[in-house]
Amino acid sequence: MSDVVLLRGVGKQYEPAGPPALADVDLTVGAGEAVAVMGPSGSGKSTLLNLIAGLDRPTGGEVGVAGTVLNKLSEKALARFRRDNIGIVFQFFHLLEDLTARDNVLVPAQLVGRSRQEARKRADELLDSLGLAARANAYPARLSGGERQRVAVARALINQPALLLADEPTGAVDAAAGAQIMRILQDLSRSGQTILLVTHDPDLAHRCATRTVEVRDGRLSEAVPA
Ligand code: ADP
Ligand code: MG
Repeated sequence: MSDVVLLRGVGKQYEPAGPPALADVDLTVGAGEAVAVMGPSGSGKSTLLNLIAGLDRPTGGEVGVAGTVLNKLSEKALARFRRDNIGIVFQFFHLLEDLTARDNVLVPAQLVGRSRQEARKRADELLDSLGLAARANAYPARLSGGERQRVAVARALINQPALLLADEPTGAVDAAAGAQIMRILQDLSRSGQTILLVTHDPDLAHRCATRTVEVRDGRLSEAVPA
């Protein structure tokens, strides 16, 4: 129905002889849910996020996002699907250094082929809503970590994605900037954005998520409510 993420028996084995990074993962994320994924370093959280993002492919099981089974898509179709349906925020921002903040935000919109004027208006509205109106023409090198991450959030939202993914979004910024990112994610969740958030931070999970799951040694379980 209105499940945004639907994983069935998903596994990922990077090395044929090694242990699986993920094994037999079932996960459903309904529209409007904000799910936090917690667990120790190396447990498979980023692997899970990358499979849902279509940045990597599972070695077993089925990955469904917004009603589409990603397994069946060609690389080209997968890239198009990602651009149209998924926004991603990474720990280390991944901004293009030779583009201004505004032009970084506009990259996914240009790929969709929207009118330049309409996209620019939305980019400026997003930057404004994230407290970056005065920084729109700045290059990433001139921005603080927190500002960079807010630009990355604006870029992730420009195409109004069905699903927002974030992998340790506060992991590389100072505490004050982290708190600001946390509030932004909280507001997005309250406004109905479906979110899957990987984090080490129980406070971030507690504030932003409607539900928490835990990954340990590649196995996912629903966290016991505190
Ligand atoms: P987490 O995000 O929870 O720290 P990861 O998903 O990054 O964990 O990693 C889970 C396991 O998969 C780890 O043992 C890691 O070394 C391994 N792994 C992750 N990415 C790769 C890769 N590209 N090639 C081989 N092994 C990988
Ligand atoms: Mg990780």
